[in-house]
Amino acid sequence: MSVHWWISSCAGKRNIRKLLVRAPRLAKGAAFLLGMFLLLSPGASAQRTQLKPGWNMFSPQQDVELGKKAALDAARQLPSCNAPKVDAYLTQLGMRLASKLPTGGVQYPFEFHCVNDKAINAFALPGGYVFINRGVIEAADNEGQLAAVIAHELSHVALRHGTNQATKAQWTQAFLGITSGIFGGSTGGALLTELGAFAAGGVLLRYSRTAESQADVMGTQVLYDTGYDPRAMAQFFEKLEAETKGKNPPEFLSDHPNPEHRVGRVDEEIERLGGVPPNAKRDSAEFEAIKREVLALPVVKKHPPGASGAAALPPPPSGNFATYEANSYTIRYPDNWKKYPDSNGGGVSFAPEGGILDDGSGHAALAYGLIVSIAQVQGNPSDSNALENGTRQVLEDLQKSNPKMKIQRQGERVRLNGQPGLSTYLTNDSPAGGLETDWVITVLRPEGLHYFVCVAPQTAYSNYDKTFSSILDSVRFKK
Ligand SMILES: [Zn+2]
Repeated sequence: MSVHWWISSCAGKRNIRKLLVRAPRLAKGAAFLLGMFLLLSPGASAQRTQLKPGWNMFSPQQDVELGKKAALDAARQLPSCNAPKVDAYLTQLGMRLASKLPTGGVQYPFEFHCVNDKAINAFALPGGYVFINRGVIEAADNEGQLAAVIAHELSHVALRHGTNQATKAQWTQAFLGITSGIFGGSTGGALLTELGAFAAGGVLLRYSRTAESQADVMGTQVLYDTGYDPRAMAQFFEKLEAETKGKNPPEFLSDHPNPEHRVGRVDEEIERLGGVPPNAKRDSAEFEAIKREVLALPVVKKHPPGASGAAALPPPPSGNFATYEANSYTIRYPDNWKKYPDSNGGGVSFAPEGGILDDGSGHAALAYGLIVSIAQVQGNPSDSNALENGTRQVLEDLQKSNPKMKIQRQGERVRLNGQPGLSTYLTNDSPAGGLETDWVITVLRPEGLHYFVCVAPQTAYSNYDKTFSSILDSVRFKK
């Protein structure tokens, strides 16, 4: 028997994790202090359970920084409902609940996003970035039940469960290494990626049973204080449990254990609060209108069909990186990718297993991965247009060997290891079928024009762009 609310609140995390670089799993079975001080205040009139954030090596500001980066990742990876009215409604409801959230004086920049996913999921990243699947709205019988889900998620934010878990999981060192980079003003792409991976690995969203129970209790208080019938919290759990009976995905439960006596604990808290207020709010006409709008949204397929059904897809890029040292630069790449030096010694490619395919004419072509090369370009390198001119020559050369290649976006100035560079996006026929995206970064150096070509089929590109950013951020030119 399982309580599926918890399952549902974790599945959002699962989606992201699937899409992003996997962070190493935490060691299991480590024993820690309870993440939270659970105190009763016997003198208080309401005798509500007093909850405070537990041990945390991060500052609330770092919660916000970390959550913001992870939320950007999440927003990119997850399909949006694209329904401004729904987002506005969620924001209005969410802010109303957040105004009753005991944050200990911390101002969180709350955001509420509707995700076009019919699975009953919701999750909150540190700092207040809340993602609510359409499935939650569709499954909720009334506004109170939706409010219960949001109040539960907001409680994870206020109790800082994400970074509390990270603290306990001894990820602090890794995290501080990452954030010191962020706050030190590094180029950012790789750091953002690592943070995405960090969240995706589940550290920030892997709550303990205790944390789950605390989010229920605080969520019940928030519902009560906002004027909702606090029984909605338990009702939603019970409903989900009844509806999903017999469909028990144990892998969710291994990551996210149910708190024991969940419904009983909610009921107990309602008693402490003095029972259900007589005029408690349960529903609104607005909720019913929003629910109808959500039910009418187009359904987004979770996994866009791959360009080629036959070929096995490469494994996701590892979050651990290996280093490759060339004469004029070093670069880091996922350690489950192989490197393929050019036969003429001028460049190198990095690709996952299955990332190099026959292009149909017996030639090996890179479908997933990165090509690095150095071109000797015409013209005076100190000329102010030298980078532009050199880039144009390189792109023309690439187009000669790839006649279907077309420029989509060009001329954006970027910096690579502090050096000025140009970013160009191209499309081309993919050896995996369909179209591919090629992201080319060019940097002019005394040794020649360095160019980095990041390649993935269009349908899979979003699974790789963070890895590509990480790789490019790792480039260090030798003096
Ligand atoms: Zn939870």
